[in-house]
Amino acid sequence: MSPILEIRGLSKQFGGVTALSGVDLAIEEGEILGVVGPNGSGKTTLFNVVTGVHKPSGGSVSFRGHDITGLAPHAISRAGIGYTFQQAMAFAGLCVLENVQIAGEHVRVNAGAGQPWSTPQALLDFVGLAALADERAGVLPFGSLRLLGLALALATQPALLLLDEPAAGLNDRETAALVGLVRQLPGHGITVCVIDHDMKLMQMLCRRLAVLDFGSKIADGPTGAVLADPKVLEVYLGG
Ligand code: ADP
Repeated sequence: MSPILEIRGLSKQFGGVTALSGVDLAIEEGEILGVVGPNGSGKTTLFNVVTGVHKPSGGSVSFRGHDITGLAPHAISRAGIGYTFQQAMAFAGLCVLENVQIAGEHVRVNAGAGQPWSTPQALLDFVGLAALADERAGVLPFGSLRLLGLALALATQPALLLLDEPAAGLNDRETAALVGLVRQLPGHGITVCVIDHDMKLMQMLCRRLAVLDFGSKIADGPTGAVLADPKVLEVYLGG
């Protein structure tokens, strides 16, 4: 089967800074792929180029066999790529349920995965926020706000979901709940790519890891093998 997302020779320069340099990366349908690397290694830039926030300086991105390189963010979202932000983006004055309803409003034109959750309430049930459906998003505790961020991304019915440091700021109990949710996503037809520098989280979530260092991919393979790779150990331990 061909990959759901295929990145070839992707480069991005910001002035004199090379944030990405000739990155090749394939995401297979139904997997949870982790992209790791030290601070400044290009993880966020990779997501920003795939989602259309930044145009690449070179290379291509193809999603389900279609070239999406350089398309605008709304077009990429409609094609079926969803993402969460490090800062949850919800309307503070609206209640939790209304936020999910609004996020899902444009999906009629989405060519995404289909309808794993038939109503906004069913989606809130899935992420464990049903009891808070009528609360204003602005008063949610941090952990619940992160879950709402996940619900908002899922409401757009992505076939591929990009998660940017999904557990940042969560306590151990909240992190375990999040890991439990994310691991169910492939069963709902949603392929996942997560970026994080928290290796413990990545080992819980991902069977396969790709490692970036100074904008280049230095390793890609089964999690255990990648974490034992001398090149990767040097990046993380060699300082
Ligand atoms: P990571 O997410 O792995 O921490 P980033 O993708 O944020 O790494 O950053 C990679 C490199 O690109 C860094 O050197 C960073 O300073 C630079 N960079 C990222 N975004 C921008 C930007 N909008 N303008 C200028 N430089 C940027």
